[in-house]
Amino acid sequence: MNQLDSPTYYAVTRKYDLRFPTLKGDIDADVVVVGGGFSGINTALELAERGITNIVVLEARHLGFGGTGRNGGQIMAGIGHDLDRVKQHVGEDGLRELFRISNLGAGIIKDRIRKYGIDADFHHGYAYLGYNRRQEKTLREWEKDFQAADPDTEVRLYTGSEVSKVVGSDVYGSALLHMGAGHVHSLNLLLGEARALHGHGARIFEDSAVKRVEYGDRVTVHTAMGRVRAQKMLWACNAFLDGMELSIYRKTVNTYAFQLCTEPLSDDLIRRISPIRGAYSDIRPIIDYYRVTAENRLLFGSATALLDYIPKDLKGWNRSLMLKVFPYLKDVRIDLAWGGPLCCGANLFPQIGTVPGHPNVYYVQAYAGFGVTPSHIVCKVLAEGMAEGSARYDLMRSVPHADIFGKDSLRAVMTTAGKAWNQLGGYFNGRR
Ligand SMILES: Cc1cc2nc3c(=O)[nH]c(=O)nc-3n(C[C@H](O)[C@H](O)[C@H](O)COP(=O)(O)OP(=O)(O)OC[C@H]3O[C@@H](n4cnc5c(N)ncnc54)[C@H](O)[C@@H]3O)c2cc1C
Repeated sequence: MNQLDSPTYYAVTRKYDLRFPTLKGDIDADVVVVGGGFSGINTALELAERGITNIVVLEARHLGFGGTGRNGGQIMAGIGHDLDRVKQHVGEDGLRELFRISNLGAGIIKDRIRKYGIDADFHHGYAYLGYNRRQEKTLREWEKDFQAADPDTEVRLYTGSEVSKVVGSDVYGSALLHMGAGHVHSLNLLLGEARALHGHGARIFEDSAVKRVEYGDRVTVHTAMGRVRAQKMLWACNAFLDGMELSIYRKTVNTYAFQLCTEPLSDDLIRRISPIRGAYSDIRPIIDYYRVTAENRLLFGSATALLDYIPKDLKGWNRSLMLKVFPYLKDVRIDLAWGGPLCCGANLFPQIGTVPGHPNVYYVQAYAGFGVTPSHIVCKVLAEGMAEGSARYDLMRSVPHADIFGKDSLRAVMTTAGKAWNQLGGYFNGRR
């Protein structure tokens, strides 16, 4: 087994014993969705809530096999990276609308959990962490932005010795607390959403990899043992697309992120690490991100800095980063470590739209490492587009996404160059 696919915290603590059959034979549907992660299931659920329930979801392995079952469970504010990057395409008004859309975030997840009674350990409390004065200045600006966007939510910048009220580490000089964000058990959230989708009448198939697609007025999607004919189709394979649809595959490149999970810790230790029992990320271009879990474990995540590199010893790699932040965890046992690919576009903005020449074939991808909340936001907008069309769907799809030249043949060079560019950009936008 690929070490990135090692058992995750989510797999060993899943609460829903939800399994779906393999597709066998020919069926018809209004919409066929390829990919059983947050993107596929959320778009389908949004469509079902709009009355389009004759939906088939095809998942190659099992629901949550991709990033959705591997992530840090971090629910951050917003849609992802600095939205200013797309301002030149959407203008001032468009940017304002994107800010409005990006604020839907945690609210959609909370509504889902409430509406469908999903047991997913949702917890409020998030902090963005700064190492130096430059980052503190950035966080001060974010504080104003977050407060303006959501005046009823507690948002507060802590600096100097006060940082310990938010996080138990000496390495940070500032911490921006955002009580609107937080963390969630992402696999249980996904499975709860899938159960809700199934309850609406949609059909879900696992172990049903799509092998081939014929486009046309009706799309025919082939798996090893069956076929789905549908009026509309959605590609929701993200970092796992693996060249299946070249026109969208070309617009992204994968990098990698890694996670560890500690043994359960004492209440005292958890209070010391995280007085808010929250989730955290520093704001460097290549971040450390971590959170506590309902069982008092620490999930600590990282990504590689400059090279397209997968460490041989995932536990050791992440542990050394964790000890830089929390040296007092040196005797703590690491129970699990895993990782996975992140699908990134050149401007780090999520990509939605239709495959060129095929207006009934939609796609969504490229959350650039930040997909738990954004997938819920973006797929709401995408479902509007797929169902009846909407101005905000047109706005989001209008952002152009460049092909990434040489993404396979020059992969290592591309990734290194891309990250170096990102690091440099990080300096100019106050993240370094
Ligand atoms: C280690 C790691 C940590 C992360 N941490 C965070 C975090 O803390 N916060 C955050 O916001 N984001 C995080 N992310 C990113 C986030 O998890 C993803 O952006 C998000 O889950 C993507 O969801 P998705 O449904 O688009 O893709 P995925 O969940 O990857 O789902 C795609 C699915 O498509 C299926 N598929 C592929 N090909 C086929 C085929 N031919 N036929 C049928 N099915 C197919 C795959 O099996 C897979 O299940 C992290 C990602 C990783 C890897």
